[in-house]
Amino acid sequence: MNSSDVTGIRDLFVIGGGINGCGIARDAAGRGLSVTLAEKNDLASATSSASTKLFHGGLRYLEYFEFRLVREALIEREVLLSAMPHISWPMRFVLPYHKDMRFESDTPTSKLLGVIMPWMKARRPAWLIRLGLFLYDHLGGRKILPPTATLKLKAAPEGAPLEARFETAYEYSDCWIEDSRLVVLNARDAEARGAEVLVRTEVTSARSENGIWHVETRDTETGAVRQVRARMVVNAAGPWVGDVIQSKIGLNSREGVRLVRGSHIVTKRLYDHEKCYFFQGTDGRIIFAIPYETDFTLIGTTDAEHSDPSEKPVCTEAEQDYLLNFANQYFRQTLTRDDVVWTYSGVRPLYDDGASTATAATRDYTLKVDRSAGAPVLNIFGGKITTYRRLAESALEKIAGEMDVSKGPWTAGVPLPGGDFPVDGVEALIAEVRESYPFLTARWARRLVRAYGTEAREILGAATTVADLGEDFGATLTEAEVRWLMDKEYARSAGDIVWRRNKLGLRLSADEIAALDQWMQAARAAA
Ligand SMILES: Cc1cc2nc3c(=O)[nH]c(=O)nc-3n(C[C@H](O)[C@H](O)[C@H](O)COP(=O)(O)OP(=O)(O)OC[C@H]3O[C@@H](n4cnc5c(N)ncnc54)[C@H](O)[C@@H]3O)c2cc1C
Repeated sequence: MNSSDVTGIRDLFVIGGGINGCGIARDAAGRGLSVTLAEKNDLASATSSASTKLFHGGLRYLEYFEFRLVREALIEREVLLSAMPHISWPMRFVLPYHKDMRFESDTPTSKLLGVIMPWMKARRPAWLIRLGLFLYDHLGGRKILPPTATLKLKAAPEGAPLEARFETAYEYSDCWIEDSRLVVLNARDAEARGAEVLVRTEVTSARSENGIWHVETRDTETGAVRQVRARMVVNAAGPWVGDVIQSKIGLNSREGVRLVRGSHIVTKRLYDHEKCYFFQGTDGRIIFAIPYETDFTLIGTTDAEHSDPSEKPVCTEAEQDYLLNFANQYFRQTLTRDDVVWTYSGVRPLYDDGASTATAATRDYTLKVDRSAGAPVLNIFGGKITTYRRLAESALEKIAGEMDVSKGPWTAGVPLPGGDFPVDGVEALIAEVRESYPFLTARWARRLVRAYGTEAREILGAATTVADLGEDFGATLTEAEVRWLMDKEYARSAGDIVWRRNKLGLRLSADEIAALDQWMQAARAAA
C-alpha cells in the first residue's frame, strides 16, 4: 500500500509532464512511492515533442570533451532501444567530409588544434574525424548498432543527392525516437504502477507547512482548484523551471536555465534512401537531414537565444532561411521556402553554466535539492531525451536522501507499453498484424505497429473490416484509435492527437482536423 493511502499525503508531487517529469514519475511509482504528476497543458506539449527525435550520444559534444555525457548517452541508446522497439529504431548517419569544412572555433578541440596545428584554422583533418567516430563507436559498449564505415560517395547511392565536391563520407549509428509517444508511454506506465497523472492541470502555487508541501492546482479547462499534500516536490517544468522556483514556490534560488530555441523545417522527401545526413556548416554548427514520416525530410536545428518561456517558440523566417541555405551547401537540389511544408520549434532548458554561446552551453543535466522552504524540492535543469531514464535514476537517488525508498533502480530494459517484443521483431509484428487484419494496408499496419507495438491488436480488437473501426477521420485515423487515445493516452483535443500522439496533421486538412476536434468534444460531453 502506498503511504498516501493512509495519510492522504503523497510522497512526490511532480510538476511537468515532459519526458523528465514522466520518466521520474514512472521510476518512482515503480519503486512504490505515491506520486501525483501535473501537466498544465498536454503531455509533451513543450520541449519534449519538439526535439530532433534522436537517441544519440551527441557526436558533436566530443568537440567539447563532454565524455561523461556522450558515454552515458551512447550506452543508454541500446538500453532504450531494447525497451521500446516500436517507437525507436536504429538509423545510419552519413557525414560528408570536405577538407575545407569549418568547425566551431571556441571548442576545447579547436583550442587544442590551434596550438598544435595552427595552420588548420578551424578546419579538421580527416584523421581527427575518424578518431572522433572511433571514440563514438567504442565509448558506449555498442552491441546492437552497426559500427562506423567509410563511403565513397561517387559510387554510393548516398552520394547521389549531394553536390559532386563531396567524395568521401563517414557513416555511423544512432537511433530515432518518437519523442512525444515516449512521454505518453512513460506516463501510462507510471499510472499503471499507481501514479496519478493529471493533464490540463497547472500548479499555481506551493507552500510548505510543518515540512509538508501544500500544492495548489488549477484545472485549465474547468478552473477547478485542488490542494494536494506531498512530502517532496519535483520541479520538472523544463523551460519554466525558473518560473516555478520563483513564482510558484517562491524559493530564493539563483539557479536557472538558459533558454535556447531550436527550430526544424519539414520538406517533401528529398531523397530515396533511409539514411540521415549530418552536415557541418561554415559557422561551425551542424544540422541533420532525416527521412521523416515516410514522405518527408526533417531538417534541423537552429540555436537561438529565447528569453521568455511563455513566448511560444516559432521557427522564424530567418531560421527557415538559415536551414535552407545550410542544406543547400550540400544538396544538389536547391531548396527554397516553397519547399517547406511544416515547421516546429522548441526551447531547450539548458543548465546555465555561463557558456559564451548557445551552441556551447552544456547539454548535460544538473539536479539540485533545495530545502530552504522547509520541505524539499528537487529542481531539474537541462537533460536530453536520450538521458531521461538515467536522469530519473539520479533523481531517485536524490529523493532517497529525503525519504525511505526501499527499491533500487529497475527501469533498465523493462519494456514500455507495447514494447514487449524483440528488438529486431518489428517487421514480424507488422506481418502478424496484417495477417490478422487483412483489411489494413501495409502503410497503415506499419504506422499502427510503430506507434502502439503489441498494443495495436488491442486497438483493432475484433474488427474484420475497416467499417468495424467506426468513424473515419481521414489518413487512416479511425474512431477505434481516437477512443484509445482519449481513454488511455490522455488526449483531449485534435491537436493532441494529430501533432503529438501521431503526426497525421501532415496529411489531414484543416477541415478534417476541425471535424475530429468537434467529434472529440462531443464524445467527451457524452461521456
Ligand atoms: C530543437 C531541439 C532539439 C532537440 N533534440 C534532441 C534530440 O535529438 N535528442 C535528445 O536526446 N534531446 C534533444 N533535445 C532535448 C530534449 O528535447 C529536452 O532536453 C527535453 O525534452 C526536456 O524535457 P523536460 O521534461 O525537461 O521539459 P518539457 O518537455 O518542456 O516539459 C516541461 C513541462 O512542464 C510543464 N509545466 C511548466 N510549468 C508548469 C506548471 N506550473 N504546472 C504544470 N505543468 C507545468 C510544461 O507545460 C511542459 O510540458 C532537443 C531539444 C530541442 C529544443
